[in-house]
Amino acid sequence: MRDKELYAAILGIRSPWQVANVELATKAEEVRVRLEMQAGTRLGCPECGASGPGYDTRRRTWRHLDTCQFKTIVEADVPRVECPKHGVRQIEVPWAEPGSGFTALMEALVIDWLKEASIAAVARLMSLSWDQVDGVLQRAVDRGLARREPLELERIGIDETSFQKRHEYVTIVTDQESGNVVYVADDRKQESLQGFFDELEPADLLRIQSVCMDMWAPYIAVVEENLHRAESKICFDKFHVAKHLGDAVDKVRRQEQREQLEEGDRSLVGTRYAWLSNPEHMDERSTGLLERIKHRVLRTARAWALKEHAMCLWHYASRTWARKAWLAWISWAMRSRLEPVKRVARMIRDHLEGILNAIVLKATNAPSESTNAKVQRIKRMACGFRNRSRFRNAIYFHLGGLDLYPANPSTHTTS
Ligand SMILES: [Zn+2]
Repeated sequence: MRDKELYAAILGIRSPWQVANVELATKAEEVRVRLEMQAGTRLGCPECGASGPGYDTRRRTWRHLDTCQFKTIVEADVPRVECPKHGVRQIEVPWAEPGSGFTALMEALVIDWLKEASIAAVARLMSLSWDQVDGVLQRAVDRGLARREPLELERIGIDETSFQKRHEYVTIVTDQESGNVVYVADDRKQESLQGFFDELEPADLLRIQSVCMDMWAPYIAVVEENLHRAESKICFDKFHVAKHLGDAVDKVRRQEQREQLEEGDRSLVGTRYAWLSNPEHMDERSTGLLERIKHRVLRTARAWALKEHAMCLWHYASRTWARKAWLAWISWAMRSRLEPVKRVARMIRDHLEGILNAIVLKATNAPSESTNAKVQRIKRMACGFRNRSRFRNAIYFHLGGLDLYPANPSTHTTS
């Protein structure tokens, strides 16, 4: 008797359901909790709520949280109801979501663990199969996306991130207010991003004030096509410009290092990260290193100085002064005789208005930048993804800001 009350409380079982029996199978290390419905209960169609005559019952089981390391199985004969409109349907039960083999509480716990660990680790920890845990994740994301309120976006960031192999990408749209990922699509083509705009209403499109992104022609074309006065909203932010210049410094360094090595000079060996790091965060070792070799590696040092100078051109309040400063920088860079830097300078010249937009709108891609770092962590945690759709759902799961939990009145009490 005590067991029944205990499990009724644990499972949140209320009338018309009750715990009929609790069976402890010591050998199988299993607790079986049998639930039954009080006779004469009115049965409602899960679709429309209309009550109908009972049709038959189906035996179903759900895995629940372990009880003292014993696997806990909930079991019930669930009635099916005959609805005049929807036909024969199984009624909903208060402890689990339709179609799930887990009680809602168990599913919520799996979701909590998935926030901390990989599918494989959660499966091991909770003695579930990989597919079972994956199913919880996929259902949680579907649920979260279905429940999501209409998006009201003002500032967005668009980013690409690599998926598994080097040249496969996904496009990620971030709401810069909340930091949530609001859209994930395959590839980084025009149609990847167009899918995002297709989901928005005309009023939503008018609300968007700034779009932070890389100087990437397919994205630019799509934003120009979809947003009114896009030329005043597209922002090429510091983070993306820094990335291009960082790559240019690295190219100059590699070339100079190659030439020096041919003459037996090893000045640049092992200095890659020192040149790429932000001077504000540079440790003493790197600072000392650059000081020592600066005069011997003139081209790399010049490229580096150009990059660092460009990083100081983001604080202007006035568009006019910002333009002057950037034009001066472009002219310096074009005279540098450093081909990789000149290539970026040309790109900056062709996209200058977008850079000025970023400066005067104070649009930074910091939220997307941290999204990127988090996506990399998700990738590492999963040791790669079997396919893009799983990768996409993992991003939504961790970064979508979605309400993932099964909502069940008797078991989920936090809402
Ligand atoms: Zn119905």
